[in-house]
Amino acid sequence: MRSILLALVPACVFAQAQPVPPTTAKPGWKWSIDSVHTVINAVRAGRSLKPAKWPGNARVAVALSFDVDNETIPIRFGEPTVGALSQAQYGARVGLERIVKLLDANKIPGSFFIPSVSLAVTPTMADVIKRSGRHEIGVHGWIHEMNSDLPDSVERRLVAKALSELTTMTGVKPTGYRAPSWNFSPNTLRILRDLGFRYESSLMADDSPYELLQDGKPTGIVEIPVEWILDDAPLFDPRGERYASPRDVARVWMDEFDKAYEEGTMFVLTMHPHISGHRSRIVALEQLIAHIQAKGAGKVWWATHGAVAEYVRKEAKLDPVVP
Ligand SMILES: [Zn+2]
Repeated sequence: MRSILLALVPACVFAQAQPVPPTTAKPGWKWSIDSVHTVINAVRAGRSLKPAKWPGNARVAVALSFDVDNETIPIRFGEPTVGALSQAQYGARVGLERIVKLLDANKIPGSFFIPSVSLAVTPTMADVIKRSGRHEIGVHGWIHEMNSDLPDSVERRLVAKALSELTTMTGVKPTGYRAPSWNFSPNTLRILRDLGFRYESSLMADDSPYELLQDGKPTGIVEIPVEWILDDAPLFDPRGERYASPRDVARVWMDEFDKAYEEGTMFVLTMHPHISGHRSRIVALEQLIAHIQAKGAGKVWWATHGAVAEYVRKEAKLDPVVP
């Protein structure tokens, strides 16, 4: 039964899943406490960068992000099907335009994390995103590779290549990185530091920005945390066992926003043009934006991830730590 259900779940869902730990791993009860400390401290949340106030006396920062994966999802494991490729192409052909139009009509900025190959397949996406001058483009791997499957040298080469190609294709050097599938390897942080990234957005230790520690030491890298609750992929699969109505999902996002507003923190949402760009799903984003604008009128700072990272960095007087 389980295998039948798995066969019904399309690649886009697996694309969001974290890898299953290798079966040869030693179970935790066999670890020494030193091993526990070493593993936990390799990459960990450091000091909170929640500012005393947000710009313009806003109560809350709202940062919407869109991972423009498209065809890289079916291609990355090397066995794409024509059907899956067509479903992915929808993101570039229809979904992105629909999302950008909604943001631009509301004069809202967004952060678009794009695998380099995705943009190379449809270079005109850069023009769509850049049209308003409000949006940011960030690195999202070269071909949406799973970092934890790769040796350090390969992961490093792919991130460097993606950074350089995105810079060439968009004319702007990205300052932020989001790991494909939020799959952060033990080498990722070191690579980001070496390549001069200023912020990262794939980890989940807080509701507010924080500084990443490596082996217990500050890095100067700002984390803009994400959460699966605030991601469109897991619940929007009409063939999977976890399907939820977009309108119900929008209600969860509104509750997340309401608490962020109450607590004066930050609301970060992750969406995908090939998923949320569909007609019945863009409704969820429309409803969310309307809710935020009605409830938080004049008290919301809409910002890109990069703008949030730079603001909290300045407020906390956080300098990048030389690797
Ligand atoms: Zn992605």
